[in-house]
Amino acid sequence: MIFVWTAGVTANKLVRELPCKIDRGRLVVDQYMEVIDRPGVWAVGDCAWIPEPKSSKPYPPTAQHASREGVMVARNIAASILNTKKQALVFPGLGALAAIGRRTGVAKIMGYKFSGVFAWFLWRTVYLSKLPRFEKKLPVAFNWTLDMLFPKNLVQFMSLHSSLAQNEELIGEGVTRSAVIDLEADGYEAN
Ligand SMILES: Cc1cc2nc3c(=O)[nH]c(=O)nc-3n(C[C@H](O)[C@H](O)[C@H](O)COP(=O)(O)OP(=O)(O)OC[C@H]3O[C@@H](n4cnc5c(N)ncnc54)[C@H](O)[C@@H]3O)c2cc1C
Repeated sequence: MIFVWTAGVTANKLVRELPCKIDRGRLVVDQYMEVIDRPGVWAVGDCAWIPEPKSSKPYPPTAQHASREGVMVARNIAASILNTKKQALVFPGLGALAAIGRRTGVAKIMGYKFSGVFAWFLWRTVYLSKLPRFEKKLPVAFNWTLDMLFPKNLVQFMSLHSSLAQNEELIGEGVTRSAVIDLEADGYEAN
């Protein structure tokens, strides 16, 4: 079976309702991340349309940008309070990595494109390094190590919703809840 999933990143719908300049659902800010015509209001991350100083195109909505924008906007807020010079974010991006299957990945790092096991390994290494705190990193690293030693885990989900109301009646008539679940698992439905 081939499963293809495509998705984009979009800002929260709330942003569109704000009385500010909006472009494709994102709050338009200047290069210092201050909302246009709203001094003292700042926006970063996926909800912000931040111009890249050289091209004036918006920065892409990625975590590597959002985390740097967060640091820079904090400095700019401080600068605006202290009346010192604000700074524009200049960050071309480090590249893109994605895991696209079992032990396969794709990567584009500093213009170089490659795929395969090394790209997958790099994705995992970067992902692990970005996880906050050791107690988060450890279980993930442990799980991933086990995952390399054993075959893929298969899980089957069964919907028990359709006959739930009817089965509540059965339970009321003295049939135990676990018996009903067993029946449903065997494919029976209450009439
Ligand atoms: C499937 C997927 C894969 C991605 N992979 C990558 C990747 O590999 N590399 C990469 O760089 N980027 C990736 N991204 C993009 C990255 O996740 C985002 O660009 C980044 O998280 C943006 O950070 P943010 O702080 O702006 O928003 P978020 O990280 O989305 O944080 C917004 C926070 O606001 C909270 N929130 C929302 N509405 C409200 C509300 N009404 N009240 C209070 N809180 C609220 C949310 O719960 C959330 O915690 C991916 C995104 C997706 C969806």
